[in-house]
Amino acid sequence: MSRSRETTHYRACNLCEAICGIQIEVREGRVASIRGDREDPFSRGHICPKAVALQDIHEDPDRLRHPLRRTKDGGWERIGWREAYDEVAARLRTIQREHGRDAVATYLGNPNVHNLGSMLFGPPLWRGLRTKNRFSATSVDQLPHHVAATLMFGHKLLLPVPDLDRTAFLLVLGANPAVSNGSMMTAPGMLRRLEELRKRGGRLVVVDPRRTETARLADRHHFIRPGADALLLMAMLHVILSEGLERPGRLAEFCDSLDTVRSLVADFTPERVAPATGIAAEEIRSLAREFAAAPTAVCYGRLGVSTQIFGGLCQWLVNVLNIVTGNLDNPGGAMFTKAAVDLVTSTGRGRLGTWNSRVRGLPEYGGELPVAVLAEEILSEGPGQIRGLLTVAGNPVLSTPNGVQLERALESLDFMVAIDFYLNETTRHAHVILPPTSPLEHDHYDLVFNLLAVRNTAKYSPALFSPGPDSRHEWQIFSELDSRLGDGSLKRRLTRWFNAKLGPRGLLDLGLRFGPYGTGLRAFGGGLSLGRLERSVHGLDLGALKPCLPGRLRTNDRRIELAPQELANDVPRLLKDLEASVDAADDRDSLLLIGRRQVRSNNSWMHNFPRLMRGKERCTLLMHPDDASRLGVAASERVCLVSRVGRIEVPLELSDEMMPGVVSLPHGWGHHRSGTQLATAEKTPGASLNDLTDDQSVDPVCGSAVLSGVPVRVEPAD
Ligand code: SF4
Repeated sequence: MSRSRETTHYRACNLCEAICGIQIEVREGRVASIRGDREDPFSRGHICPKAVALQDIHEDPDRLRHPLRRTKDGGWERIGWREAYDEVAARLRTIQREHGRDAVATYLGNPNVHNLGSMLFGPPLWRGLRTKNRFSATSVDQLPHHVAATLMFGHKLLLPVPDLDRTAFLLVLGANPAVSNGSMMTAPGMLRRLEELRKRGGRLVVVDPRRTETARLADRHHFIRPGADALLLMAMLHVILSEGLERPGRLAEFCDSLDTVRSLVADFTPERVAPATGIAAEEIRSLAREFAAAPTAVCYGRLGVSTQIFGGLCQWLVNVLNIVTGNLDNPGGAMFTKAAVDLVTSTGRGRLGTWNSRVRGLPEYGGELPVAVLAEEILSEGPGQIRGLLTVAGNPVLSTPNGVQLERALESLDFMVAIDFYLNETTRHAHVILPPTSPLEHDHYDLVFNLLAVRNTAKYSPALFSPGPDSRHEWQIFSELDSRLGDGSLKRRLTRWFNAKLGPRGLLDLGLRFGPYGTGLRAFGGGLSLGRLERSVHGLDLGALKPCLPGRLRTNDRRIELAPQELANDVPRLLKDLEASVDAADDRDSLLLIGRRQVRSNNSWMHNFPRLMRGKERCTLLMHPDDASRLGVAASERVCLVSRVGRIEVPLELSDEMMPGVVSLPHGWGHHRSGTQLATAEKTPGASLNDLTDDQSVDPVCGSAVLSGVPVRVEPAD
């Protein structure tokens, strides 16, 4: 496909979970255009404005291209790779030798799961460090999904996905797929898919404290008080189970404890939860009856219900609702994928609470502690105190609770290394930065999001550009550090050698060949291998999701536990919260803060690209006009937002899309810190939501941070 020095490349965009197919024209060694690949069987031409920013990342003069070391006067000097690796290994090894293994911590940002090399070569390094202080963005995002999946289905990655293209009723709680393009539900072209749902006579109901972009497309939208979704779900189950509307069908044969669920929901009548949720009892009853009566239905709860005080209960109850109505593992309901590389059969199941954090005693899950405890584990003296930190593609100062406290903690570390190609609010505290190649310089295959997709698909994305001779891929950086820091046993050395020999491509080929569609070791045949995938430049459609239970369950007895002890034990806390909400005096000055996602923003980065940041200021506080007049503040004014842990100043925007009593600020901003490169071209830094969120506020079941429903006060700015 070459027209005089112009070449066409097909790949998947790996900036978010939607994995849209893109077509990139390269002319004279530079990206000439990026557009949606109409022949991609999954995304069918859809892209969002961020896709073109892949070029901006690649060409960004701010992007780091060589290792850097902090100098004594606070500046940076360029160093060679070997020197950088040796220094990082020596400093981390010294800390572990002098203070124990747990004195070194790791933090992984979410771009890691969008990167084949990181997924394959990162784990040996984390495991090799043998520290209990491992953290990631999981505990400020989707941790309750994994906990519920482990406890109910026996594996952290057995995550039910809405069968979006066939459902007759989609109930969305705390999610905005019209903007996110689906999260834990990979579905590029969400607007088209939602339109098709409506065209085939399906219904869309959204429950959210904000009338979101998705809610505007819905048949019905209900405001709900932040943090009250578990009450709504309990009441819906109460209606279904007390009115005999349950119909689990064939699921009944391998589900346990329906009677326990029946007794747990008994106290949560719609009348009782209505004042706390803000939804009338009759509305809750009819929503439950409609959901139960729909020919197919699926309840989907995402970030707003995960990152709240009852996140674990919410994701459990979402599953229970789908199960008792017979919609789990049923076309049009919540289904499991069959990905071409099946991580369900090749990774650990995930366990909760094998150990607890040193200071606060929060439970570990799947080998990681909740990131809400990271700062206190650095700042609190004593055996096991964190003194060294390795971060990878993460910016926890902006993306985890109480960012100001975390900054203070990072400043106190003996040593920090960041694998990252930006000098951001977090990496500016590092002593050494190791920048990997850009997304267009390495191959890609999505190991994770094919597991969460609304159809089974597979696509291989070859690199467009050769990295420079002094560049390193993530997997090469991990391999080098692992060989210096990891276990030196013969078995580990052989495995390391074998993996490095194969590289991500070779390991992926093995995963595909021995996956559910694989060809095995045969050179030819109808099965899947990397060679076959590479020839299918637009990607392969592997078909609609298919029922797979009970065979795919990973519980010891191959049965679903409907009322896992860890979650059932948390129901009294919910009841207590409900009773407290009835007694609580109405504090008219206090508001509840929620976040919001923006299509031109990618969490805490990409704010330095002019073409994404054009237009009006985006980091604004949304407030209902009634609240504004009660508080004496006006549109466009700058206001102070104050929480238990911090205070920020932001411009105010009034909108009746907000539920009265609730305000919303987008996440990922706050680039006013010195020495970073991520402020917008127009120097609009915004303010960080996580300078207000409280590290002490977590869901105690799984330790996930409460980022939604944060109590705040709004005052006129000085
Ligand atoms: S929705 Fe946008 S950022 Fe996400 S994969 Fe598609 S093009 Fe990329």
